[in-house]
Amino acid sequence: MQGNAHLKCINPQCGIEYPIEYTSVQCEKGHLLDVKYKNKPSPELKEIFYKRRNSEGSIFNESGVWRFRELLNFCQIDTEDIKECSKYLVSLDGAEGRQSKPYHMSKAADFIGISNENLWLQPEGYNPSGSFKDNGMATAVTHAKMTGAKKIVCASTGNTSASAGMFAANEGIKCDVYIPAGQIAPGKLSQAYQFGAQIVEVNGNFDDALKQSLDDAQNHDGYTVNSVNPFRIEGQKTIPFRALEYLNWEAPDWLVYPGGALGNISSCGKALMELHEWGWIKKIPRIAVINSEGASTLSDLYNGKFENEKLRWNDGNPNTELISRYYDHLDKEGLRPKTKATAIQIGRPANILKGLRALEFTNGIATTVSDSEMLDGMSVVGLNGFDCEMASGATVVGIKKLISEGIIKKDDVVVGILTGRQKDAMIPVDYHRNSENKFAIPPKN
Ligand SMILES: [Zn+2]
Repeated sequence: MQGNAHLKCINPQCGIEYPIEYTSVQCEKGHLLDVKYKNKPSPELKEIFYKRRNSEGSIFNESGVWRFRELLNFCQIDTEDIKECSKYLVSLDGAEGRQSKPYHMSKAADFIGISNENLWLQPEGYNPSGSFKDNGMATAVTHAKMTGAKKIVCASTGNTSASAGMFAANEGIKCDVYIPAGQIAPGKLSQAYQFGAQIVEVNGNFDDALKQSLDDAQNHDGYTVNSVNPFRIEGQKTIPFRALEYLNWEAPDWLVYPGGALGNISSCGKALMELHEWGWIKKIPRIAVINSEGASTLSDLYNGKFENEKLRWNDGNPNTELISRYYDHLDKEGLRPKTKATAIQIGRPANILKGLRALEFTNGIATTVSDSEMLDGMSVVGLNGFDCEMASGATVVGIKKLISEGIIKKDDVVVGILTGRQKDAMIPVDYHRNSENKFAIPPKN
């Protein structure tokens, strides 16, 4: 199997290739990278994946990520040899992705205005650190280990730092978390502290913290685990894999995600491109990205709300100058991303180009919802006995909005991803104390 996997620049005009051990997150011209596989996994693996749900004592079968290991075999190992798996694959005792699958949630379906049979919501908050990040962190830390890294590095104010800290602690490696000094409520970092990560405060904003974390990783033997890392994208492919497997590999009409740094839709797009190329699926589901109104970079650019030009992947020739002018415009006007859903409070989505590629392949769309709508979405999920964070509420109200606009049809099958668990205790408390909120159940006295 040696030589089956390598890295390749996503820009078709550049396309530089690197060996799989390469640790920079960009090609030498600054473009993002993809993990590429030469072999074509046989659809007969579907049967093996199904059988592994009876784990027979193997944590790599129990894991919702490594159960699909043949479809992300960048370690190029014999995946049936459990000893070899444990030498390479990083897993939190099989817990990543283990509890994630699509569920029907009837109260959410009623609220959205779709039949309960046609709506599936997949909570990724039941991952060990509480968000979808564990899917991609298991694979990124596997690659870090493969390349001999002693320290992983990220810029994060929440879920990424929790996931990175957790895996680092479990693997006995160091973890540095870069944050903008004085701008982050300490509570958001409580998991990173708990897992023994080193917090590094940087003067400036989040973009400055990310830049310094990337510089420090490059210059001081650190390994970057933000979603610009192509191995993060590999693990996150298992989110749509689990949804599709649950639907017997019958593709739904829509896959709906909240939009932040756009790593999730990038990985969903890559998963669908590969499955289609390998002949595993015929139909290609459409991806819908739901931005917050206060952090709507993708939706603005994709829908032509800036300079009247609709930004597209354009077969590998996206108008990157339009993106630069948009960012200059944000800077000049002092516009900063602003939403209470901090998980998607991102003005410069690091994976925007991969995201555009995913939207082109899937005939996807992007739209926005307000903070108060997201809170309703989050709350109606809660009334079904599932716990999700505010950003995940965007998925629910995004589907509702797209149905009311006639873009999603009422008889379409829709899978929505709920990205994380509630980590800000006061958000639901404040919501329910205000009787004007749609689903509020205020305290009695
Ligand atoms: Zn390149």
